[in-house]
Amino acid sequence: MSNITVTHAESGLMRLAVARSERVTPHMVRVTLAGDDLRRFEYRGFDQWFRLAVPVDDGARFDNLPARFGVGGYLKFLTLPKGSRPVIRNYTVRQFRAESLELDVDFVTHGTDGVAGPWAASVEAGAEVALIDQGCGWRPVSSDWQLLVADESGLPAVAGVLRDLPRDARGIAVIELFDLADRQELDEPDGFTVHWVERAEGSAPGSAALPAVAALEFPPGSVYAFAVGESALATGVRRHLVGERGVPKGNITFCGYWKRGVAR
Ligand SMILES: Cc1cc2nc3c(=O)[nH]c(=O)nc-3n(C[C@H](O)[C@H](O)[C@H](O)COP(=O)(O)OP(=O)(O)OC[C@H]3O[C@@H](n4cnc5c(N)ncnc54)[C@H](O)[C@@H]3O)c2cc1C
Repeated sequence: MSNITVTHAESGLMRLAVARSERVTPHMVRVTLAGDDLRRFEYRGFDQWFRLAVPVDDGARFDNLPARFGVGGYLKFLTLPKGSRPVIRNYTVRQFRAESLELDVDFVTHGTDGVAGPWAASVEAGAEVALIDQGCGWRPVSSDWQLLVADESGLPAVAGVLRDLPRDARGIAVIELFDLADRQELDEPDGFTVHWVERAEGSAPGSAALPAVAALEFPPGSVYAFAVGESALATGVRRHLVGERGVPKGNITFCGYWKRGVAR
C-alpha cells in the first residue's frame, strides 16, 4: 500500500551502463550507472526514485521500452516479447553527480530470490540497464518537526531526505536493519536524532521499528511523517500515527517498498 504520487520528469527512458559496483556494507551494494542519457536527467534529490529495467537473460533489449511508465507505458511493456523483456523494479537515486554524469543506486542484497537484488550482487562493469524517472514521493506538509521511518530498502530514501532537508529542520529518524553493520554515514541536520534498530533474525519486518516508534516521546507541535520499507512496516507506522497519536492522514506519506514473500 502507498499514497505516494508518481510524477514523471521529462527525462524519458534513459539507457545507461554499469560503471562500477562496490559493497558498501555487508548487505548493500552500490552500483554506479553512467551514460550520456544522464544529461537529460532532472535531478530533484530527496527520495527521487525510478523504474529500473534489469536484464533477466542475454536477449534482454532496452531500445523498445516505453518512455513513461503510466498505464499506457505499462501495457506497451507487457506486449514486448518475453525473451527480450527486462524486469522492472523500483529504486532510489542514492547520489547523482552531474559533472561526471554518474548515478549511484544502493541495492539491498537479500539473497538469491528475485531479480534486481541478485543482479546487483554480481553485476560487472559494462552491463546495460534502462531507467525511467518517477520523481519524489517525499511531499512534506508544513509542520513543526518530521518523523522518518524506514527499513534497509528505504535507507537510500531516508539518507537522501536527511541530506537535502534545510539545515534548520528538526525531527527523528528510525531506521530498522536486519544487521546493524549496514548502518551508513548520514548527513542529517543538527536538529535530527537518528535511531538505528535491529530486527531479530527471522522476525517480521517492522518488528523493531514499530515498537521503537511507539516508545518515542514526540516533540511538541505538528508532525509530517514519511514511512517506507516493507509493507507491514509502512502501514503499521501509519496506523499507529493515525490511531494512537492523532496525526492527520494528510500529514503522512507511506509506501510499501516490498512485501515479504511476494515478488514485485
Ligand atoms: C519507490 C521505491 C524505491 C525503492 N528504493 C530501493 C532502493 O533504493 N534500494 C533497495 O534495495 N530497494 C528499494 N526498493 C525496494 C525494491 O524495489 C524491492 O525490494 C524489490 O522487490 C527488489 O526486487 P528483486 O527483484 O530483488 O526481488 P523480487 O523479485 O521483487 O522479490 C523476490 C523475493 O525477495 C523478497 N524481497 C524483495 N525485496 C527484499 C528486501 N529488500 N529485503 C528482503 N527480501 C526482499 C520478496 O519478498 C520476494 O520473496 C524501492 C521500492 C520502491 C517502491
